Amino acid sequence: MAIGTRERIELRDELTSVGYHWDYIDEWQPKVTLYRHRAMVTPSGVVVSPVGTPLHNLPGNPDYVSKKTRIGLFTWPPSDSCQCRWCIASKPTTDSVESVETLDGVTPRKRKTRAR
Ligand SMILES: [Zn+2]
Repeated sequence: MAIGTRERIELRDELTSVGYHWDYIDEWQPKVTLYRHRAMVTPSGVVVSPVGTPLHNLPGNPDYVSKKTRIGLFTWPPSDSCQCRWCIASKPTTDSVESVETLDGVTPRKRKTRAR
């Protein structure tokens, strides 16, 4: 898998924005277990695969994993502290969570774009 620098930055941004570790793009494993953070429900409302179901032996490459985040699959199990939109949506909003954890990496911003 050869991806360009820009794709790589975008992918990293996308991954970190949904809670992946900054280094995921460098340290990914060929096979990962993804956990459902959203139940898989049939159109008739039957839960086929509930929240928390592990799905083993899935490809761990960053572009695959980032696509799966859009349907609620992550490499960590859902928990109370999970900040993904699926978990947040399923939580009762008793009080607003003030302490949003900041990632230890610094999000790269285009500071000096000096093309030529
Ligand atoms: Zn979650």
